[in-house]
Amino acid sequence: MDFELTEEQQAVRDAAREFSRNQLLPGVIERDTQAIFPEEQVREMGRLGFMGMMVDPKYNGGGMDSISYVVAMEEISKIDASAAVCMSVNNSLVCWGLEKYGTDAQKQKYLKPLAMGSVHGAFCLSEPEAGSDATSQKTIAVDKGDHYLVNGTKNWITNGSTASIYLVFAQTDPAKLHKGISAFIVEKGWGGFTVGKKEDKLGIRGSDTHSLMFTDLKIPKENRIGEEGFGFHLAMKILDGGRLGIAAQALGIASGAYELALAYSKERITFGKPISQHQAIQFKLADMCMEIEAARMLCYKAAFLKDQGRDYTSASAMAKLFASEVAMKTTIEAVQIHGGYGYVKEYHVERLMRDAKITQIYEGTSEIQRIVISRSILRQ
Ligand SMILES: Cc1cc2nc3c(=O)[nH]c(=O)nc-3n(C[C@H](O)[C@H](O)[C@H](O)COP(=O)(O)OP(=O)(O)OC[C@H]3O[C@@H](n4cnc5c(N)ncnc54)[C@H](O)[C@@H]3O)c2cc1C
Repeated sequence: MDFELTEEQQAVRDAAREFSRNQLLPGVIERDTQAIFPEEQVREMGRLGFMGMMVDPKYNGGGMDSISYVVAMEEISKIDASAAVCMSVNNSLVCWGLEKYGTDAQKQKYLKPLAMGSVHGAFCLSEPEAGSDATSQKTIAVDKGDHYLVNGTKNWITNGSTASIYLVFAQTDPAKLHKGISAFIVEKGWGGFTVGKKEDKLGIRGSDTHSLMFTDLKIPKENRIGEEGFGFHLAMKILDGGRLGIAAQALGIASGAYELALAYSKERITFGKPISQHQAIQFKLADMCMEIEAARMLCYKAAFLKDQGRDYTSASAMAKLFASEVAMKTTIEAVQIHGGYGYVKEYHVERLMRDAKITQIYEGTSEIQRIVISRSILRQ
């Protein structure tokens, strides 16, 4: 075993850290307050190679390993979890699925611009009545010969209005239940595709979350990914990797809050000494540091297994569940360590606390992760 990052992974971490501090930190409070998507910064993330990190260079990707991806996600999430979720969706939910299961023509047309970040994508599985129970898809795709006619509504879609390319799941054979779900590539601007209302959220307020409506949307047959009925399996495979991205986002939110709390504890004087010299604060810092390290190890292990081509479903669920709970706990303690200053926007930790909450909800709630893990244990 080797617990050191390689030189390449360290270089990725340094580049992501420099970019976050120089380009994401300025304006992050205003973007959160006014719910502004970091458009220019996301474009720059594409130029720097963060939007298609693991994609084969022949499709304009970075050809990197999943540990590099986790490392970059941690650094970017420390500063701006909204920019990070856009990056995570593009890398793990859209590019990965297309590269692994798309045809060469689909990769040439869609993966290439997505991997270089000239455009970004969205993953459209959830519906008003299908969240944790993603099998209950009501969106219907009817076979019309050379195309499908699609009707339905998708909810909570990250990058909903800013994306150009959408992976959409729909029922092609409702009688077959989840075995009748298929996956399609949809371009923004096609007739029958409407972007619905923007969600006004608790956290990750700079991220772009919308509902989407499809009314007699025509999807050409060549835009189906895999066979008819392959969609649910595809979505579950994609979400294994997606959970790793969200685990890394949670890790970054936690470590960002911890670093701020540690620095503040050395500066703030009460009763004649820095608060870091009070044992109650030291114990909080010790717990935060230990739990973040444990979350990081779970993330790296899941990434390692993924890169080895081994089963990592349970490992990524564990990483996501643990890291998201650490993010919530750590950010609450970071606010506490800041006292009253933690309760106002200027010190960043209240935003990180609000941002942490979503990591326990999307791409499978904490309850769903426990189901995934326990199923895997009981299968052994
Ligand atoms: C900001 C944001 C961004 C999102 N981005 C996307 C996106 O890009 N693409 C996309 O497709 N979706 C996205 N989602 C949707 C997200 O994945 C779902 O909200 C999530 O899976 C939960 O589904 P739900 O909201 O319908 O809650 P429900 O499934 O209704 O769950 C409600 C509660 O019941 C619990 N529960 C449900 N079933 C069980 C069970 N069997 N056992 C125990 N407890 C259970 C849940 O854990 C939860 O606590 C996003 C959501 C948000 C809020």
